[in-house]
Amino acid sequence: MQSYDVAEWGQPLQKRLRDTPQPGPDEVLVRLTHCGVCHSDVHIREGWFDLGGGNKLKLSERGTQLPLTLGHEPIGIVQAVGAKVTGIAPGRHVLVNPWIGCGQCWACNSDRDNLCNNMRAMGVGIQGAFATHLLVPHSRYLVDAEGLDPARAAVLACSGVTAYSAVQKFGTLGADDWVAVLGCGGVGLMALSVLAAMGHQRVIACDIDDAKLQAAAAVGAAATVNLKTTPGPTELLKISGIGLAHMVDFVGAPATTQLALPALRKGGQMVVVGLFGGALPVPLPALAMREVSLRGSAVGNTTQIRELVQLVRDGKLKLPAVQVRPLAEAEAALRDLEAGRIIGRVVLDTAEAAV
Ligand SMILES: [Zn+2]
Ligand SMILES: [Zn+2]
Repeated sequence: MQSYDVAEWGQPLQKRLRDTPQPGPDEVLVRLTHCGVCHSDVHIREGWFDLGGGNKLKLSERGTQLPLTLGHEPIGIVQAVGAKVTGIAPGRHVLVNPWIGCGQCWACNSDRDNLCNNMRAMGVGIQGAFATHLLVPHSRYLVDAEGLDPARAAVLACSGVTAYSAVQKFGTLGADDWVAVLGCGGVGLMALSVLAAMGHQRVIACDIDDAKLQAAAAVGAAATVNLKTTPGPTELLKISGIGLAHMVDFVGAPATTQLALPALRKGGQMVVVGLFGGALPVPLPALAMREVSLRGSAVGNTTQIRELVQLVRDGKLKLPAVQVRPLAEAEAALRDLEAGRIIGRVVLDTAEAAV
């Protein structure tokens, strides 16, 4: 098999050839056809996330060992299954939930692997999917993807489920509630598509790049705000009248998250998803008096990926177009993403790579 790996933190990905693994009793070997490229991959290659105040979350201190194959938006075809695996046979097209937990704790036992303290996510803690093959620890992480366009559907495993899980935290939306999506990269566009699938119309898309805002309008945003040319809450308050019921922040930088208090209406909620990094000083009396909530959201679970697939099959969720590039361009795709040169999502075609 072939893969593109981080051999040294912060350095360009390296191609690696090794023997294709055989699945153990509970494992499933998937011959990958595609894997999406996520902005988190840029951070993972660097080996750390910025926690603000000079503090870093280092993957090496969380047990990640090199070489590490990146990639956590896998889709492919089951090639072989372990002796104890039932209910899935070779030849099936599957999406893989890459957010793998320990399998033992309260979170894993309630299908919330994404909240497991010992999460070993593919492409973060264990080998990922910038590769021709992927070993999946258990069939419960597989979602049937028969009949879907695999290049577009690949992104459901991270971008899709991250957007869906974040938007679900809004709860039931009233038709008059204004919500804002901050950051219209791949995940932001997916959130706009999910909101459109839910039939919600009062959505404001925010970014600092007009091209991304155009893409946002094309997937259903009722209004767009360029936070570079019109910074601060003024425009958001003008459009919404009394302030926003919910915001979801796919950037996660102090400049975006600090919009929560002034732009939300009383009782409003900010869901922070993006991992740009930094810290936020919050005036606590204002938080209490305005009953504003700040809440985090981290990826999602297998059930949510299944629900997304159903929304696609029902014709409610339109999967955004993606740019397909060969697996060998994994490094170039990361560089383009880092430089902000990508509109929407890049998906690597892993099927054409030599094995
Ligand atoms: Zn991701
Ligand atoms: Zn666990």
